[in-house]
Amino acid sequence: MTLLVYTDLDGSLMEHDTYSISPAEPLLAQLRLRGIMLVMNSSKTAVEIEFIQQRLGLSSPFVCENGAALHFPDQEESRKQVFGRPRSAWLPEIHALRRKHKWSFQGFADWSEHEISELTGLGAVEARLARQREFSEPILWAATNKDRKLFESQLAQLDLKLIEGGRFFSIQGSYDKSVPMRWFERQHAQRKPVTVALGDSPNDSAMLNAAQIAVVIKSAKSSRISLQGPEKIIHTSQPGPAGWVQAMTEILAWHDAGKLSTFGS
Ligand SMILES: [Mg+2]
Repeated sequence: MTLLVYTDLDGSLMEHDTYSISPAEPLLAQLRLRGIMLVMNSSKTAVEIEFIQQRLGLSSPFVCENGAALHFPDQEESRKQVFGRPRSAWLPEIHALRRKHKWSFQGFADWSEHEISELTGLGAVEARLARQREFSEPILWAATNKDRKLFESQLAQLDLKLIEGGRFFSIQGSYDKSVPMRWFERQHAQRKPVTVALGDSPNDSAMLNAAQIAVVIKSAKSSRISLQGPEKIIHTSQPGPAGWVQAMTEILAWHDAGKLSTFGS
């Protein structure tokens, strides 16, 4: 393995509004042809990503819920490595805090499948899968920013944090999208592949910083991604899969020309 690609889904490989991947499908086939592994690294749930991978005929490892777990669907008994704390263990405390402080926010635990579908534009099946959360709670914060700071300090006391994705803030444990990447990297200690990461929102910052080549996909929030770490940074001029294709075409050309060996050595 010479190249390992981590990608965000919503707003990156998938169009933000329609969730379409089709503009990138020819390039996904090119990656497969070259034996380049694509690891989806998303805020989506495990069952949502499995659904997407099945549709694309993929069975590669993937990261769900913003770094909470790394799944190996092609291995026996679908092995997984968990980094997150179960949502059921802390969500009642969060709801108790909300009642106590009269904070106005709502999240996936408060919404029906139909409401999630309305808020996200996901179809009925996808909304049902999105609701099957194990480690994180996406919310819409409707109170003031000052209250949000207070909320964040209370979360810190519970060893939880709030991170910003494309649509929602996510309440989760103190991990991020880079934690499973670094764990996975340690499994390839002998021959390290060059790593590429593609993302469009602040919740992708850690993933992009952990890669050698970082691709910032243009979005309404991409200017707020802070980068220090990658050897090469590509900013796409187009959003979603069009931008994804733009950057990966360039990277594949480097790969094919044998120019990737200059990275990460
Ligand atoms: Mg995104």
